[in-house]
Amino acid sequence: MGEVNALVAQQGDSGDIELAHQRVDESFLPDGAVEIDVAYSSVNYKDALAVTPKGGVARDYPLIPGIDIAGTVRASTSADFSVGDAVVAHGRDIGTARHGGYAEVARVPADLVVRLDGLTTAEAAAIGTAGYTAAMSVERLISYGITPDDGPVLVTGASGGVGSVSVDLLAGAGYEVVASTGTDSAHELLRALGAAQVIGRVPPEGEKVRALGKAQWAAAVDCVGGTTLAYIASTLRYEGVVAASGLAGGADLPTTVHPFILRGVTLAGIDSVQQTIDRRRALWARLGDDLKPRHLDAVTTEVDVAALPGTLRTILSGAVTGRTRVRVA
Ligand code: NDP
Repeated sequence: MGEVNALVAQQGDSGDIELAHQRVDESFLPDGAVEIDVAYSSVNYKDALAVTPKGGVARDYPLIPGIDIAGTVRASTSADFSVGDAVVAHGRDIGTARHGGYAEVARVPADLVVRLDGLTTAEAAAIGTAGYTAAMSVERLISYGITPDDGPVLVTGASGGVGSVSVDLLAGAGYEVVASTGTDSAHELLRALGAAQVIGRVPPEGEKVRALGKAQWAAAVDCVGGTTLAYIASTLRYEGVVAASGLAGGADLPTTVHPFILRGVTLAGIDSVQQTIDRRRALWARLGDDLKPRHLDAVTTEVDVAALPGTLRTILSGAVTGRTRVRVA
């Protein structure tokens, strides 16, 4: 293999993180049973944090970021994978403490690799960690017995990666989706994805979060956290469930016990990072089958890996709509 093209994040003496396209020797790549010719990666909120000083995500530099890897197996010492298999890999330390997807070749442990079925590598990267997290969230609501007959499901951060795929998946499964967004330009897209109603961010400006507010939602998918999640807890209907995955709006949770002990509300935490490979493979199989997003193309923008430094710097400001797939090869 010799040398490989890669985007490398390096921390300077001042603490700033510099991103540069480099040719790195193959010995720069970590060990791993499965070597992948990377076709696509993607941009997630976490990828931006990985190249942000004190972002709290990357454990060491230099680092090839990219928490999603989609491509074709080029070599494997694992009996589970053969050369030519179309695969996706994400989770654990990929793109944070182990080199990730923004390079022509990636090496990963076999227990982080999922063989694709019903999805192309381009589709898998468009879904990526954010879309996968949306699927985990929807699957969790269903596992708690939430059905379309129970009433509206609120999706916050709806214009973003987790949010937009959640809207698509929930509407596809027959739920009445209320999409909450602070991005005016995303209203049309959210309706096209199947949202029955598009509202502004919650809590509405000027409205305080009360211990218990008007009960409105049967369930919610939240990737915003902070006051938004506190508002959701206080406005879920009796025995409502919120699948909480993110902190785009803050890591604090200024709530009380009242929604939980007086309305039987469930706060269901979603973590895509440490999930077992068996469950990961099972959910990816559903993403290629009954849970396949219906409007993946509509939510996906493709950029070349050469454009990445700029894109990574805009996502934290909330200026990116939907999913961003990165063309690596
Ligand atoms: P995006 O940036 O694509 O989406 C986040 C959305 O949140 C934005 O588009 C915006 O939506 C909204 N938002 C941004 N800033 C604020 C703010 N200050 N207040 C309220 N809303 C805000 O990110 P992703 O979808 O990739 O990730 C979302 C979150 O989920 C992140 O915190 C990420 O770390 C987390 N995550 C967690 C995972 C897990 O395993 N638990 C896996 C994947 C992601 P709008 O303008 O429509 O309101």
